[in-house]
Amino acid sequence: MPRGMFKSGRLRKIFVKTPGGETHIHYRQRKPSKAICSACKKPLAGVPREMPATLRNIPKTAKRPERPYGGVLCSVCLRVMFQQKARGESA
Ligand SMILES: [Zn+2]
Repeated sequence: MPRGMFKSGRLRKIFVKTPGGETHIHYRQRKPSKAICSACKKPLAGVPREMPATLRNIPKTAKRPERPYGGVLCSVCLRVMFQQKARGESA
């Protein structure tokens, strides 16, 4: 039976297979939620879902798409916004 602090579901379970053939459960912190588009609230592609300590070791170019509003707006919403701006509509 796991200790009380491991029963709450606060931590995620990692099933680790030992050389002896047994499966042990390791407990790790949960990853942050997916980055979402600020306009349509859909999950953004190309934005890694990692812990801040891991993100610190990833190059900036690998953390968001290299385009205007990369990591903020999805490609569909960006295209719509640029179309509205080009037509002189209020975006
Ligand atoms: Zn969007």
